[in-house]
Parts: sequence; C-alpha cells; structure tokens
Amino acid sequence: MKSIKMVDLNGQYEAIKGELDIAIDSVMSTTSFINGPAVKEFQNNLQEYLNVKHVIPCANGTDALQLALMSLNLNPGDEIITSNFTFASTAEVVLLMGLRLKLVDINEETFNIDPISVERAITSKTKAIIPVHLFGQPADMEKIVKIAKQNKLKIIEDNAQALGATYTFNDGMKKKTGTIGDIGTTSFFPSKNLGAYGDGGAIYTDNDFLAKKIKILANHGMDKRYYHDLVGLNSRLDSLQAAILDVKLKYLDGYNESRRNSALRYSDNLRGIDSLITPNIPIDLQSHVFHQYTLRILDSKRDLLAEYLAKNSIPFGIYYPVPLHKQKAYYSPEVDDKLFRVTNRAVQEVISLPMHTELTNEQIDYITEKLIKFLN
Ligand SMILES: *Cc1c(COP(=O)(O)O)cnc(C)c1O
Repeated sequence: MKSIKMVDLNGQYEAIKGELDIAIDSVMSTTSFINGPAVKEFQNNLQEYLNVKHVIPCANGTDALQLALMSLNLNPGDEIITSNFTFASTAEVVLLMGLRLKLVDINEETFNIDPISVERAITSKTKAIIPVHLFGQPADMEKIVKIAKQNKLKIIEDNAQALGATYTFNDGMKKKTGTIGDIGTTSFFPSKNLGAYGDGGAIYTDNDFLAKKIKILANHGMDKRYYHDLVGLNSRLDSLQAAILDVKLKYLDGYNESRRNSALRYSDNLRGIDSLITPNIPIDLQSHVFHQYTLRILDSKRDLLAEYLAKNSIPFGIYYPVPLHKQKAYYSPEVDDKLFRVTNRAVQEVISLPMHTELTNEQIDYITEKLIKFLN
C-alpha cells in the first residue's frame, strides 16, 4: 500500500501532468505573467461553471473576503456576524477593517453557523452575515437568506472549502454555493478542492455595481490607469496560476465525486461504532464536496486517538483546535463563553481523516480498521 497522505497533490499532478505542462509552457512563451489571457479565460470558465455574472480573480481567499467587505460601504463599529468555528481569515478581515466581530455558535450536525444564534446576535448595527460552508458542506442558506432579507443584511459566503457544492432550496431551486448571497469568496490554496500551485482566490457576484467596485478595489482603487478613485489593494491572480486552475477546473466535478465516494466508504466502514459520530451526509449528495471528512470522537478520547494514528503512520488534522473567541488575537472580555456550547465541544471532539482525490479503498479500509481497533 502507498503511504497515506493527508492531501496527495503529487498523485493528482502526475495524472494530468501533460495538460498542465502545456498550459504552463504557453504562459512562459507569452511571458504575460500578470493579467495575461489565461486569467481572463479562467475567469470566464469559472463564471460559466458557477453560473454567475461576475468572477473577479484575486491573490488569495483572505483578500477575497477583505475585498468583499471593502465593497460594502461599511463604517467602523458596524457589526459582522460569522461562525466561531472557521479558519481565522474570516474573523481577521473583519477586525482589520475596524469592524465589530460578532461570533456565533454552530449547528451540531453540520458544524456550520447556527441560524437561531445568528438571529439572536443581530443588533441595529449589524450589516452583514458571513456564513462559511465549512468542510465542503453548505450552511443553512434557506434560513440565512430569510434572516438577511428580514433585517436588510448583506451576505458574503465564504466558499473557500466548498467550491463545486450545490445547494437546493425548499422549492427545488438549485444554486452553487457562493452564488446565493450578495458576494461569494473562494481560495485556491493548493489543498482546497480546486487548488493552484501557489496562492490564489476569487470573488463572485451577480451584482454589476459590486463587481465593478471589487475589480477597482483589487487594482489599487483605479479604474483608469494611474487615477486612484478608492483606497484599494494590490490583489491579483497571476497568469501561471490561472492557466493551472483552468486545466484543473475541468476536473473539479470529478474530483468532488471522488471525495464523496471516499467519504461514503469511510462512513460505511464506521457504521455502528459507538464512540464516534460520522459526518452528516446530506441526502442530495451534490450538496457536500467533502473538503474534509471530519469525525467527532466522544468520551474525551480524541487526543489519544490522534497519538495512536500518528504511531500507525495515518495522518490527520484537527480543524480547529481553538474557537476564534479564545484566540489571543480575537479575544474580548465582553464575549460570553456560554454562547458557544456547540463550538466549545466541537474543538475537543473533531478529527479530520485523510481526504483527497487519490485516496484508495485499500487506504480507507486500513484507516478505518485501525480506528475501530483503537476505539473497541
Ligand atoms: C483557506 C480558507 C480561507 C483563506 O484562504 P487563503 O487563500 O489561504 O487566504 C478563508 N476561509 C476559509 C474557511 C478557508 O478554509
């Protein structure tokens, strides 16, 4: 058996190396490394894939979130609601912008932002909600859209972990995650479902005005060259990354399918084991792209299991070990720890197993066999 990796970028590269080399060579031969034709091409193809009017590529997923916030005419002290259980970027950009961060608890089954907690956190200063489609599973957008409408709030979807997931509304309408709210943001960090070979990100929206503003903001606030109308950022996706991503975009649905199959096999193998909870698998499989396959390990055994897995050469991840409200950088004495019952438990119970497009059945079976052996 091949050694098991948390993420196998090499295996995926080998499988499409021929195509990638041609794409990379073509950028090298034109030497238009910044804003070359490859960027425009990828932008158009991603627009079509997502069925969204505008995609604005940028330097990374964190910039994408910041640019989304910068486009919304917010003032210092305005409040932004997001999940307490997410990667730091989501909270970081809120604070960098001088806005007030309102963290809320999560749903026990999906690890996604809890709509009831969102409603409770709304005040007259609240301006936007940032749901994160964590681990590849859409947040409860039906309820979040309703709450946003009732309270005139903007929605920025952090889609860094769920590119390619489809959300189905109660009336049957389907939309790709990231295209439901006002603005969607994503990351092409190498380990994400659509990963570049370096940094990359994108913002998407159907709103013409916001799209134009975001494009200007990402380019030093200039529309016409050397005329700066806004204070912006320098945030670009470079042509090499765009060319690579354009090749990989064609495979994204296949990649996500293979992640789902691995997840189903993990869950099948682990059925009936008492001391763990397997991740929620939605009936409509299209709605989960398994960026991570995350278990909850009960009875305070998570850390012992982690040690055991390491000893058996099985990689794992703890996403995330500390809730944002307890991070040194984001801690605020006014925040009541009791608001985060589910998050506080999740950080002690979660463990993510290897998940990538090259995982074999043999590897999955080996991992679950060891896991069961430890827990029995
Ligand atoms: C990866 C990630 C980001 C940030 O993306 P970068 O490209 O690394 O800046 C933001 N939010 C979430 C939920 C992520 O997983």
